[in-house]
Amino acid sequence: MKSSLVILYHREPYDEVVENGQIRYLRKKSPNGILPTLKSFFADVNQGTWIAWKQVTAKQRTNFVERVSVEDEGNYRVFRIPLSAEQVKQFYHITSKEAFWPILHSFPYHFTSETSEWENFREINRLFAEAACEEAADDALIWVHDYNLWLAPYYIRQKKPNARIAFFHHTPFPSVDIFNILPWREEIVDSLLCCDLVGFHIPRYAENFVSVVRSLRPVDIVEKQKVSGHLTTVGIALAEPEVTTKLRYKNQTVRVDAFPVGTNPKNILEVLHSPEAQERIVEFKESLHDRKLIFAAGRVDYVKGNQEKLEAFGRLLDRRPDLHGKINFIMTCVQPAPGMRVYKTAQSQIEQLVGRINGRYAKLDWTPIVLYTQPIPLLDLFCFYKVADICWTTPLRDGLNLVAKEYIVAHEGQNGVLILSEFVGAAIELPQAILTNPYSVKRMDEAIEKALIMCPEEQKERMAKMYHTVTTYDVKYWADRLLDYFGKLTHETVEERV
Ligand code: UDP
Repeated sequence: MKSSLVILYHREPYDEVVENGQIRYLRKKSPNGILPTLKSFFADVNQGTWIAWKQVTAKQRTNFVERVSVEDEGNYRVFRIPLSAEQVKQFYHITSKEAFWPILHSFPYHFTSETSEWENFREINRLFAEAACEEAADDALIWVHDYNLWLAPYYIRQKKPNARIAFFHHTPFPSVDIFNILPWREEIVDSLLCCDLVGFHIPRYAENFVSVVRSLRPVDIVEKQKVSGHLTTVGIALAEPEVTTKLRYKNQTVRVDAFPVGTNPKNILEVLHSPEAQERIVEFKESLHDRKLIFAAGRVDYVKGNQEKLEAFGRLLDRRPDLHGKINFIMTCVQPAPGMRVYKTAQSQIEQLVGRINGRYAKLDWTPIVLYTQPIPLLDLFCFYKVADICWTTPLRDGLNLVAKEYIVAHEGQNGVLILSEFVGAAIELPQAILTNPYSVKRMDEAIEKALIMCPEEQKERMAKMYHTVTTYDVKYWADRLLDYFGKLTHETVEERV
């Protein structure tokens, strides 16, 4: 049976386990992240397909099974594209992370295109597109995710001129001056213009996209709307008062949508209300001995501003001896997959800084910074959120930043302080956070000082408002809104394409 919904996402949506010599594909254990949300779109379809890549050896390739069933809810199968280690390295570690990632996050200094094999990137996108066309029913919705698959819409449109194609960017989308550094910009833009709907987290990214396409192709803006609802429209770095919602190019209508993905408050609170979590919270509090806890969670990545945050913490200890022994900074900084050479420097910088600050200030009974470089269990992560007096999340650039929303949920509108970078998508949803500019030493210092002295009443007032926002615009809201949009897309597209 052909699929009415085909999702293209680079990662597989299951946990693969071997039991008694048999491979089983089980529902992913972690309820966190975007995967469960995307899978929820299969809940009401008769048949869906998820397309992902899978690394295989030459031997595994000979009898590789492309389609597998997952022991999971929802009627969907998974179609895997077998890729060699070299293809993965080129596609994922080099083109995606060394060329696209720095551009998407406005770090042209880290950009390099010399090492990218563009033909390999094209080929993998073509394989994804072919698989999608093979799986999709004629009236299917084909939903492509993220910059790794930027060229897939073009190849899909070649084979299925009437398909409904939607695309969602999970990252920021940079300004035109930065995007146009990409030597493959026309090919990428031509592919995105094959979509019926191109989606982003926030209006600024959508507007950046529109400026890019207008700089490269004669595209008409058909419709613009005022930004409304809970999104800030003026006064902060990523605020945008208006957003383009429809473009026309070569008789094709391209809708542009911007809405930030939410978190799953129900899951987070279920974990936090469990007896195990309650015990862990007590343990954490005891270990802290009444010291204030500042918490930061994230990955080793230059875009995350880890170095800037550690330097700010170092300066705090330099100027505030009164805080020595009275404060802890816990930072989870998960290592990237091995072989990502671009992150090696970022990681050693973090380790050196932590070593330098701890070396300077630690006492036998107090280590100022605790750094975790391995992923910590979800339960511990949520308990750290709960126990933390301050959550310090100040990336130099981030598409959205779910950590901020998860911290707010964990505190249920009661207490806590969120320091948030103005350069993450979530900033325009959360004006009650202490918004700061991680590029500015002065602003970073002011933010942490303000957080440390915020009174309980003000904490509660701000957190209650933010709790309302993140629980209203949660991941379910995001999914329902898009489902509604996809439903309308059928009708409008057919009419307009005649
Ligand atoms: N996370 C995790 N373990 C950690 C740190 C973070 O599972 O040690 C999760 C966190 O709960 C969040 C995600 O990783 O859901 C990070 O999402 P975010 O949008 O903040 O940043 P990204 O890594 O996607 O750039």
